[in-house]
Amino acid sequence: MSGQTPERPAARTGAHSARRMTSREMARIASPGCEGCGICCRGMGDTIRLDPMDVWRLTAALGAPFSDLLDRVIGLHAEEGLVLPHMRMDGATDACALLGADGRCSLHASRPGICRLFPLGREYEGETFRYFFPEEGCPRQDLRKVRICDWIGLPEIDRYERFVGKWHALVRRQQALAGKAIASGHDDWARRRAMQLLQDFYTADFGVTEDDFYRTFEAICGEKPWSRPSRDRDGGQVES
Ligand code: SF4
Ligand code: SF4
Repeated sequence: MSGQTPERPAARTGAHSARRMTSREMARIASPGCEGCGICCRGMGDTIRLDPMDVWRLTAALGAPFSDLLDRVIGLHAEEGLVLPHMRMDGATDACALLGADGRCSLHASRPGICRLFPLGREYEGETFRYFFPEEGCPRQDLRKVRICDWIGLPEIDRYERFVGKWHALVRRQQALAGKAIASGHDDWARRRAMQLLQDFYTADFGVTEDDFYRTFEAICGEKPWSRPSRDRDGGQVES
């Protein structure tokens, strides 16, 4: 499956292009003079999806377990048979729970992957992906060129990207299984599997260092029911 479904609506910039990039390429995305207009952190609904590494970083930075952050910082949404976390928007202001009064992220160093990516999106093909410019992004006109991996700002970018691709494929696979189960009347099975995914990948003890995280993630992926049959392949999908 292929298509474009931007998940982080913001002001239209006309920056959309067919160009697909690796993280080693340069792109005009840096907003060094960002005035904290907050456009990229408001009104996002459930679109700032959180992967297990995002939640691991947030729980460490905020010193609270996943369960304590639910409803305060993190929301849950149903997505094709799964229940997945996202950054929660405040009911009154429609701003992300971590957006500071100055219009800037109060947890910048630990912000989620989708926030690091902004204004780029990711287009997936199986367990790999490329970066692209969605139709919508930062409205500033003076964006500067920067290497994408520097913009994302995480150590061991190759390892991080392997994790992102693997997680995306695992989610797609579980969504396909959930869809089949629901279509054949096995809603309870789908619900139990969705809860198990949430528990195994979002509440596990992933350790302290990035190396701890990646090793633990691989270990969980290798266990039933998450280990992947080699014949199972996902189609492409985009996220931004
Ligand atoms: S939309 Fe652009 S200028 Fe506004 S807060 Fe986000 S990065 Fe800064
Ligand atoms: S986590 Fe930070 S960067 Fe991401 S939407 Fe919230 S305030 Fe904005």
